[in-house]
Amino acid sequence: MRLIIIGGVAAGTKAAAKALRVDPNLDIIIYQDEAEVAYSACGIPYVISGVINDGNRIIIRTPEDFAKEGITVFTRHRVVSIDKSARHLTVKNLHNNIDEVVAYDRLILATGARPIVPSLAGIDLQGVVTLRNIVDLNRFEMLLNSLQPKQAVIVGAGYIGLELAEALVYPAIKTTLVEKSACILPKFDAEMAEHVHQHLVDSNVELILGDGLAKLYGENGRVTAIETESGKKIAADLVVLAIGIRPNSELAKACGIELGKTGAIAVDTRMETSIPGIFAAGDCCETTDRIRGIPIWMPLGDIANLQGRVAGTNAAGGNAHFPGVFGTAIFKTFNLQVAITGLSEKAARESGFEPVSIVMAGADRARYYPGRQELTIKLVADRGDGRLLGAQVIGTGAVDKMIDIAATALLGKLTCADLENADLAYSPPFSPVLSPIIVAAGALKTKLEKMARLI
Ligand code: FAD
Ligand code: NAD
Repeated sequence: MRLIIIGGVAAGTKAAAKALRVDPNLDIIIYQDEAEVAYSACGIPYVISGVINDGNRIIIRTPEDFAKEGITVFTRHRVVSIDKSARHLTVKNLHNNIDEVVAYDRLILATGARPIVPSLAGIDLQGVVTLRNIVDLNRFEMLLNSLQPKQAVIVGAGYIGLELAEALVYPAIKTTLVEKSACILPKFDAEMAEHVHQHLVDSNVELILGDGLAKLYGENGRVTAIETESGKKIAADLVVLAIGIRPNSELAKACGIELGKTGAIAVDTRMETSIPGIFAAGDCCETTDRIRGIPIWMPLGDIANLQGRVAGTNAAGGNAHFPGVFGTAIFKTFNLQVAITGLSEKAARESGFEPVSIVMAGADRARYYPGRQELTIKLVADRGDGRLLGAQVIGTGAVDKMIDIAATALLGKLTCADLENADLAYSPPFSPVLSPIIVAAGALKTKLEKMARLI
């Protein structure tokens, strides 16, 4: 039986490896339109900042590595159409532009996503870049070396924008962030995003909020400035577009596979699309929000891997299910770690919950222990039953630990009262005697009880 996988970065390669373990007799082929496969896009900001000093280190496996295991990888091969009735694909070999028709028994779409690039005059000027893949990384590094930019504008203060700001400011590039929303990080509540805002200002990043990109100016084919929608002109010899991404779902749509309302491919919990025998995984497809029970699009690397495993298992004849996500994410910008899981207070209210929240400052070690770092936790719970709906954690301390405890609490549908009595590990080098998340949960429980008494 032949399994073909379209797309070979995170979801596609994970699906291939899993499918082979489930059925070692499968004939597995990956078609990948880029020159590289199995790289970690998540490492790109750290190659640019120099924390990772060799870009090749984010290429995890090569086609030769896959070949040794019996998985065939064709790089620079793009699947241009799928004939679902005949069960065959048309693949363009990008080396020579020759099309070939190839038969499949099972298919996995792992076509990912691409950056949003607005159609504005000047968008093609040299010095205007996106950051998604190895080609983007190489172009970016080449620009840094050859143009030696002095003034950068990052458009979009989301995950990529903030990870990258650090990488640009350290080599003394004057950096301005332009964000269309009224505050940075619109997925977070404003009071939490405010901490990050202040940290960026303290780190010499200029911020322009509530304003979008309107125009680009250039000379001799190179970008020289941008203009915002409100008419502010900012000089720039480097412009990074980080205004979000779109799912690569056109190939699926063209062959009659249903897309969801988000524009990504609709799948069931087995990662099967509307066409039996065709699966999808990763940034190209939707998933379920485990709190609200609705389809959402949550394009993240760990989710792509989890979904790839399930799609690979099922395409190989197994039976696995992916239950959905809480949208747990973390990143760092300068010295601050920033994380979220579940619903923000704003999102909870918009979704019809009656959220109650608490924001508390804490630290990640005993008061007297050296190296103690601070953090701020926001917990959001449902007023009715006290069930935790979400958490946001920001600080220089063990932010990852707090957010992972909160994500696990969401998985267990815990209330603040449950979390207040969680038996977590304690010793002075690792935690205060009561973890900040326990203290925050206790305070939120008390707040909820007081509100209940007032009714
Ligand atoms: P993609 O990585 O988009 O790969 C899909 C591949 O399929 C691409 O190579 C594409 O060119 C190819 N393809 C598409 N159509 C075809 C076709 N028709 N034929 C052949 N090939 C095709 N996530 C996190 O969870 N944590 C992080 O810290 C994090 N950091 C990130 C930092 C950056 C700078 C970026 C860009 C992303 C980051 N992400 C992070 C997101 C993460 O990288 C993605 O969620 C992940 O790469 C998705 O994997 P994928 O395989 O679904 O899709
Ligand atoms: P994003 O969705 O995180 O942020 C985009 C930002 O651009 C938003 O704040 C949005 O309001 C703003 N924006 C939109 N249009 C604009 C305009 N015209 N002018 C100015 N601002 C505008 O997207 P991203 O930063 O491009 O990252 C893409 C994806 O990569 C993320 O959605 C995430 O899935 C993934 N990623 C994850 C991590 C992580 O988990 N650590 C890191 C990097 C990237």
